[in-house]
Amino acid sequence: MRTRDRVALTAGLGVAAGQFAPAATFFAPVRRMAEPWVLCRVDTGRAEVALTFDDGPDPDLAPEFVAVLGPHPATFFWQGSRVRRHRQTVAGTVAQGHEIACHGDDHRTLARLGPHMTITALARARDSIAEAAGRAPAFYRPAYGVWNGAAWAAAPRLGMRRTLWSKWAWDWLATTTTPQIIERILAGARPGAILLLHDADGAPGAPQRTLAALPDILDGLHQRGLRPVTLSRLVRPSRAPVAV
Ligand SMILES: [Zn+2]
Repeated sequence: MRTRDRVALTAGLGVAAGQFAPAATFFAPVRRMAEPWVLCRVDTGRAEVALTFDDGPDPDLAPEFVAVLGPHPATFFWQGSRVRRHRQTVAGTVAQGHEIACHGDDHRTLARLGPHMTITALARARDSIAEAAGRAPAFYRPAYGVWNGAAWAAAPRLGMRRTLWSKWAWDWLATTTTPQIIERILAGARPGAILLLHDADGAPGAPQRTLAALPDILDGLHQRGLRPVTLSRLVRPSRAPVAV
């Protein structure tokens, strides 16, 4: 096999893995195959879910999300380049009990990025988040949920668990309404769910529609007896080992 073919095959497999994994959330047999390698939901006996938000930080929007979340901790998958520009926003969000995870250094799809650039960008994003948040990110979710081989291999080596989601709301689209966001997220609300929303970008007004959906989402979780926690907390072992 010529090198170029081999590279193309590797890239193809990476994209296939990315498309395969979100599909896994809908088809149980596929999900069972994917879950050893990608965190899509957590098998837990606790009545907990993780609310996760992609694409920020936006210095105007993030404080609004933090205000509406109140005492309910969430996990923000943020872009390294934005984190470097808005360090105060990151610090303010962490101070309110939220977790910062990694959404790459920018929002380019990995499908077109070479291995060297992929790994350099991912390490830079990880370092920027660690510095601004005071804690290294423990989870990585690529832009568009699309992987390439380099990111697939590098994320765990950089201390970040490969992560996708169990339910999303299509909240970045212009055609998605606030009631639809509420309904779609609550339809996926069950113990161990990783719920995906967006706190920046998307169609004009999209983050505002997500923001407007949040109070009803929090109410709905409460009514179902589910508690929002950070992703790190959601994945913690059921029983801590007994110290001797
Ligand atoms: Zn994104």
